[in-house]
Amino acid sequence: MALPQLREELALHPGPRLADGQPSWTLHDPARNQFFRIDWQTFSILSHWHLDDPAAICAAVSAHSTLQPGEQDVEQVAEFLAANELLQPRHEDSARLLAARWHGLRGSWLQRLLHHYLFFRIPLLDPDPWLARWSPRVAWFYSAAFLRLTLFALLAGAVLVYRDWGRFSATLVDTLSWQGLAAYGAAIAVVKLLHELGHAFTARRYGCRVPAMGVAFLVLWPVAYTDTNEVWKIADHRRRLAVALAGVATETAIAIWATLAWALLPEGTPKSIAFVLATVSWIATVAINASPFLRFDGYFVLSDWLDMPNLHSRAFALARWDLRERLFGLGEPPPEHFSRRRTLGLILFAWATWIYRLVVFVGIAVLVYHFFIKLAGIALFMVEVVWFIARPVWSELKVWRRLWPVLRRQPRARRSAAWAAAIALLFVVPWPTRLSASGHLKPAESFVVYAPAGAQVAELPWREGAQVPAGAPLLKLASPDLTLRWQLASSRAEALRRQSATASLDPLQQQNVQVLQQSLAAAEAELANVDADAARYVPVAPFAGQLRDVDPELRAGVWVRKQDNLMTLVRPGRWVVDTYLDEQSVRRVRSGDSAVFFADGLQGPALALKVASVDEDATRSLPDGMLATSAGGSVLTREREHLLVPEQAVYRVTLEAQDAPGTLAGHSWRGHVVIRGQWEAPGLAFLRSALALLWRELGF
Ligand SMILES: [Zn+2]
Repeated sequence: MALPQLREELALHPGPRLADGQPSWTLHDPARNQFFRIDWQTFSILSHWHLDDPAAICAAVSAHSTLQPGEQDVEQVAEFLAANELLQPRHEDSARLLAARWHGLRGSWLQRLLHHYLFFRIPLLDPDPWLARWSPRVAWFYSAAFLRLTLFALLAGAVLVYRDWGRFSATLVDTLSWQGLAAYGAAIAVVKLLHELGHAFTARRYGCRVPAMGVAFLVLWPVAYTDTNEVWKIADHRRRLAVALAGVATETAIAIWATLAWALLPEGTPKSIAFVLATVSWIATVAINASPFLRFDGYFVLSDWLDMPNLHSRAFALARWDLRERLFGLGEPPPEHFSRRRTLGLILFAWATWIYRLVVFVGIAVLVYHFFIKLAGIALFMVEVVWFIARPVWSELKVWRRLWPVLRRQPRARRSAAWAAAIALLFVVPWPTRLSASGHLKPAESFVVYAPAGAQVAELPWREGAQVPAGAPLLKLASPDLTLRWQLASSRAEALRRQSATASLDPLQQQNVQVLQQSLAAAEAELANVDADAARYVPVAPFAGQLRDVDPELRAGVWVRKQDNLMTLVRPGRWVVDTYLDEQSVRRVRSGDSAVFFADGLQGPALALKVASVDEDATRSLPDGMLATSAGGSVLTREREHLLVPEQAVYRVTLEAQDAPGTLAGHSWRGHVVIRGQWEAPGLAFLRSALALLWRELGF
């Protein structure tokens, strides 16, 4: 059997030792500047590839080393070469075969489109000649002297900032403005450029070509990148690590020196610039670049350190295998064998990566939706849901479908299915739910008598609990001031009436008549005014009812203070309970829902209620202080200008008592209302309140 031929421009370099101790080689494709790690056996087979016959190659490898490859190993190498476009297409057949394989690898056009939309790179410049020229000038930054100086700067900066922490944090708050944001944007651009130069110069220092620098787009978010693929040529593990760490190291150095500069510089623009540079580089380094969940430096450092190229996809494969084993107990072998600790670590790493990416990318979509363009936010969200949720779930389901004949007979699979069904039911089947809140039981209709200014009790005809007929005066108050005003007004009106009567008879006084009549009208108006005021001193029962809460101090001759609550007239029969519910709960309450009221301290009987009305608008301030949490109620409020303002939107719900309040009658009570609300699936209720909490905590 004739083997396909290797492309002539491919080159082999010695690579690092693999985890199991065997040597490795790096296959370099200069046309695409791609590197492939290959093991000893593959290397040996490739070294004898020119023999052009699997059997001959196997014999040659066995003769020259301790390896014993079989013909299927040679075929596997051929497949690997074909899959990675490393072969010369010899005739049309193999070209077609290659094309088919290529398409199989690239996936559907939709997948390609999505991938290009979510991750694409724009190379902007070829920095190699420039890097070569500048390398000697930056060599000092790699010296031990610079490292020692930077460590000293770190120490000095930390001490100075610690001593001046108040000013440092105050500056941080000051920069949270649009101007500050612009400064941060500029600082990020500068720091990122230096970060990339750090990678580039270090790669160059170890003899790698740096063919391109540019901008990569990650879910439409621009990120600078440097093509340092050639580091795979470097056999020394520590040097590769140095290139990968160079960006973060550069940023850390910037952070350290900027922090020290901030502490030492006098107030002014340079100090502000130092501050912005310091905070940006500290945060960018720690929070973003060090994260191993995205394909930033942290990821590459981690995968290099573990000596596991393609760390993400290998961890994902392991986690998916683990999930299947947990759900179905198939007993399949894992995709790769590692130590127990590493297996567990990789599975947890895969789950952490999935959750991190989901949260971050959905977060970006939400931010775009809220602060920029709604339509773009929705489009981004859809794409991300497809890419990060639907696509992986779909590919996992395809595996399940393949395994279906085995799956359906596994007892463990049945148990998992039962659990899944139970959880689904929690989200689908509505359960009766109960809402509880503090409530205020009071008569439906009441008339409160408040004291007018400067009044003295003249007569107190009714006692506490008395039945007062409609129209009867509740009490009589006297006011010396008002009496004086009445005497003045009535004597003045009397005098004017007399004067105008005589003036109309006297022809000499004729011209005064009009003036007198005007004065008389004014005096009579004042008299009417005084009469109206006097009515407030003799309040009358607007309806027949029972007298409650009569101030025990009241007696004939006692002076009362203005606005004192003197007594309450209550219409017998109807009692209501007011309560306040939040937005989530109030949606489940309708007019006619039944409820129960228990007075605090469990005094009196439980009172059956029916929801009478539900407010459409949120309550701006709480009229009932006794329902606020500060007084032991259930509504969270804060005090503003003597008003109790609810912390979150609450809606008033009024419930009507279905029977007589019994021993509770006569006073108003605070207690507990339990409403039997509309039925709801508990899973959905939980999800909704969790989302509401998240939304509120994020500050939207
Ligand atoms: Zn980097």
